Amino acid sequence: MSQPFLNLDRVTKRFGGLKAVGGDDGLSLSVTEGHLLGLIGPNGAGKSTTFNLISGVLKPDSGTIRLAGAPLPATKPDRIAAMGIARAFQQPRAFPSLSVRENVMIAPDNPGEHIWAALTGRWRETDRGLADEAAALLSVVGLADRVDAPVSTLSGGELRMLEVARQLMRHPRLLLLDEPTAGVDPKLQKRLGALLGELKQGGTTIIIVEHNLHFLLGIADHVAVLVRGELLAEGPPDAIRRDERVIAAYLGA
Ligand code: ADP
Ligand code: MG
Repeated sequence: MSQPFLNLDRVTKRFGGLKAVGGDDGLSLSVTEGHLLGLIGPNGAGKSTTFNLISGVLKPDSGTIRLAGAPLPATKPDRIAAMGIARAFQQPRAFPSLSVRENVMIAPDNPGEHIWAALTGRWRETDRGLADEAAALLSVVGLADRVDAPVSTLSGGELRMLEVARQLMRHPRLLLLDEPTAGVDPKLQKRLGALLGELKQGGTTIIIVEHNLHFLLGIADHVAVLVRGELLAEGPPDAIRRDERVIAAYLGA
């Protein structure tokens, strides 16, 4: 067995008296390279907090998170991003005065410089490749006809797909998506599902937090169910669908 690509080893996070992640024993979870892990559970289960711990926005109280065997530096989001972890936020932020394409172009390695270039209209000739790649990615996420539109004209669902395109500009090895289908119409959802399959084929590892179980169980290789910060069950989608504890605690609710 090869080592897991991402491994959480007895990770805990509290907010005051609240055990948001890991309960008493800590949360232990692994993801295989090139697989898609679905992370599900009721509101407040600790899913977004888990993403904050992996992406370095928050520091675990205890436990270790490793990428390809190497412990991640706690609370160093920039360094963690440079290690190849990209996280699409539940509430995507974008620059409303810039075009859809410009918002994708400013995503990668040196956003400061790109923000300046976009705001002053001073994209250089060398940014041509960046502009082409942004347009290609926007086409992949179903926004081909919105490339030059102001970002302020996008719907909530389209903004989510823009956020996915922004993260893909960084060519992540591990992509974290927090509820990517919320407010996204069925056609774009289908597009996203196909895209995630292609990314996996290319070796990208993906973790998705998702309430849309029909979507998630159709694309996940493995599913982990969190309840009050603790792992209630994990396994292949078919086993999770039939798991009595999962049905009682979550699916049936
Ligand atoms: P989920 O994404 O599964 O809905 P969250 O990870 O957002 O759940 O939240 C888990 C619990 O931790 C919730 O009870 C939430 O209110 C709490 N929580 C999350 N972030 C913070 C924070 N920054 N400060 C205090 N409490 C938080
Ligand atoms: Mg959440």
